[in-house]
Amino acid sequence: MPQVETLRGPVDTAQLGFTLMHEHVFVLSEGVPHNFPSVFDEDQQIAAAQEKLRELVDAGVRTFVDLTVLGLGRDIPRVLRVAGDIPLNIIVATGLYTYDELPRYFGSRDADVMAELFVRDITEGIQGTNVKAAILKCATDEPGVTPGVEKVLRAVARTHRRTGVPISTHTHAPTRRGLEQQAIFEEEGIDLSRVVIGHSGDTEDTDYLEALLKRGSYLGMDRFGIDIYLTTEKRVAVIAKLCERGYAGQMVLSHDASCLLDWYPAEAVRATVPNWHFLHISRDVIPALRNAGVTEEQIQKMTVENPRRIFEHSGPY
Ligand SMILES: [Zn+2]
Repeated sequence: MPQVETLRGPVDTAQLGFTLMHEHVFVLSEGVPHNFPSVFDEDQQIAAAQEKLRELVDAGVRTFVDLTVLGLGRDIPRVLRVAGDIPLNIIVATGLYTYDELPRYFGSRDADVMAELFVRDITEGIQGTNVKAAILKCATDEPGVTPGVEKVLRAVARTHRRTGVPISTHTHAPTRRGLEQQAIFEEEGIDLSRVVIGHSGDTEDTDYLEALLKRGSYLGMDRFGIDIYLTTEKRVAVIAKLCERGYAGQMVLSHDASCLLDWYPAEAVRATVPNWHFLHISRDVIPALRNAGVTEEQIQKMTVENPRRIFEHSGPY
């Protein structure tokens, strides 16, 4: 029986069920709450996060992929406290989130030094816990493949080949950054069907999306609720079009939401993107997909079968 590592240890992939492939428990500015603890009320935020995760379970979500890594304030002991006994599989990640420069430690060391640390997160455990990462994360945003970003992409690719865990990326879709990621992964000998090109739902450029799909990758249609980038209506129309063209087996759905993101004042987030929360897909997006002609079978693929296949397709090479 194939299994995947989660916060509570290995789980049969058959048990993953409805899966949100790109979310976060907390996104915190790296180092800020640690240095200035008054900005983050630990007990209050943990209680609020638990309430949000319980609502998500009540809505039928069984698995939550937390793509929080270095650069986004990853803190696995804290996520363990949040998870408590909530009946939700939480899959956690390793990797590095930057749009350009690296933490100074990595600036003077090569990609293999970084890869070695990612491998340990996957094989031994993260931050002194025995929680193992089961997915790799990297990012390319508007600045493109800067030297720092390239080092992360190559370290992630090499870790993937050594451990077999899948890769999930952040991209800036309007500048077609996913194609550059695929090119570097190909240079590193990666099977592109083991990669989710994230934030692909931010664009209506279906020529770009089909180019990514034809090379075998999954698309993360994973920012539902961030209407300022693209409205739900337009995101749904793109998915319906790609389903019609036969790509339901290569898309996954998510919000890229978090219980708390400290980059902006909370009131500003609520006012600007009111639909950006963990329940938007269950409540609003799935009914909208049905209205747009997407079948139950295609919805099942995008929310259950594709995530399962991504985690089952493992093993080093
Ligand atoms: Zn994210």
